[in-house]
Amino acid sequence: MLSGWRDVAARRPWRISAKLLIISSVVTVIGFSAICVNVMLDMRRGEEALARQTLENLATTIDADISRNIEIYDLSLKAVASNMLLPEITTVSKPVRQLVLFDHATTARHFGAIQVFDADGRLTIDASTLDPQAENRADEDYFRIHRDNPDAGLFISRPMLFRGAYSIVLSRRISDTDGGFLGVVAGSIRFSFFHELFERLSLDPADTITVLKRDRTIIMRRPFDLDIIGKNLGTRQDWKPENLRAGGSYAGKGPVDVTPRLYVRGSGSGPLFVVAGKPLAAVFELWRKEAYRIGAVVLALILFVLASTLVLAREIGRRAEAESKLEEMATTDALTGLRNRRKFDAVIEIEWRRAMREKTQLALLMIDADHFKAYNDTFGHQAGDQLLVGIAICISDSVRRAGDCVARYGGEEFAVLLPNTSAADAFKIAETIRNKVQGWSDGETASTVSCGVASLAPTAGMDWAILVAAADKALYAAKAGGRNRAVVASLPQLSLVA
Ligand code: GH3
Ligand code: MG
Ligand code: MG
Repeated sequence: MLSGWRDVAARRPWRISAKLLIISSVVTVIGFSAICVNVMLDMRRGEEALARQTLENLATTIDADISRNIEIYDLSLKAVASNMLLPEITTVSKPVRQLVLFDHATTARHFGAIQVFDADGRLTIDASTLDPQAENRADEDYFRIHRDNPDAGLFISRPMLFRGAYSIVLSRRISDTDGGFLGVVAGSIRFSFFHELFERLSLDPADTITVLKRDRTIIMRRPFDLDIIGKNLGTRQDWKPENLRAGGSYAGKGPVDVTPRLYVRGSGSGPLFVVAGKPLAAVFELWRKEAYRIGAVVLALILFVLASTLVLAREIGRRAEAESKLEEMATTDALTGLRNRRKFDAVIEIEWRRAMREKTQLALLMIDADHFKAYNDTFGHQAGDQLLVGIAICISDSVRRAGDCVARYGGEEFAVLLPNTSAADAFKIAETIRNKVQGWSDGETASTVSCGVASLAPTAGMDWAILVAAADKALYAAKAGGRNRAVVASLPQLSLVA
């Protein structure tokens, strides 16, 4: 029992270190993976921030270009609206009037000729011709808005077919000095302006540029799709105003196709605004490749570490088992299975100290087979061995208390250590053993043992050799007294407890 406990104690450090190895490996792997995931997510955020910045710059640049052109065109509209109030304008000749009203800006490639409509919507003056054909625009939005609302300012229409080309119409109200409605001055910007603007940029085919009015009506989109032009995003949940505030962004499906993109609005503040979009797959393409590469390497490393840990832990376990087996072999007598002399010396050392500490008696029996040499000589060495095994069993059967230690002391001699036992009790056990051996062996092979008994309460400065010597001496006395008997040692009064 005692030695069993010690075996476990000896094995435990190995067990703990195998477990520790597995735990520390798993913790390391988890920590390492967490760091890797964090770094990868950081990289992803970096890619997204970079793409957002690039898209915002692109949208802002386009926005600035469009705003500048609208501003220039609007200046011409404003000039016409104010010059129409000059009293001379009705008296000068048509060519002079054209020169006064329209500057050269209006002849730019993508801008339609400026036209002036009177208060009833009739075309009165056209920058492209001295004699315009009769037409009436009283029903058009851009006419009605100015007629009904003196403060409409610059009005930009929905995209529409205007003089055979898709355009947006820019218009201003002509008011007299009292604010009375005199008519409308209108001009147009053709889609070709946007097409040319977008062509100048080097964009991927899946990238999008969307030009919208402030009311979120789509004016223009690249790639061009006539069906989407003029649509209002007001009802769309995903393109909420907060997603499209200046400099704002939105990742997800757009208004036209199902490709999820990162959409960023430029930071311009003109009447139109621009949203640039890039597919999320393209935004994270490099990152994804890198993530797969690093992920594969990390996974391989993790598997390697875990596999090595398992192999190592198993090896440690095997060693621990071998170690405990060796330990057992080193402390066990091969013939009888009892503890050997080495183990006995270790146990008596410990029990001696314990008895000293706890001030209890420690008893020792020294048991020796009688005439064993003769037995060997008569029945042979193997029979002698069998007898030794039999004696060992008889002793073990008689000693049952936890903490008792039975050992083969050497040759045909056995030692029994009995903690907390008086000489009288030890003597009883010795007698039990002796009787058991005698009773077990019979006939011509009948054998007996002699037993020396000693018990004492050790005090400081005493060595356990005293106890062994006393038991030995008692054994010698038993032999001298005729064998097959137990003799209690007579110890000096100081240490004699029996
Ligand atoms: P006594 O009664 O005085 O003890 O006489 P004895 O013959 O038993 O004592 P002795 O010391 O003269 O002889 C011991 C013998 O035990 C000698 C040795 O051959 C034998 N022996 C010692 N170890 C073993 C063993 O492991 N197996 C066998 N078969 N015999 C052993
Ligand atoms: Mg002997
Ligand atoms: Mg003997």
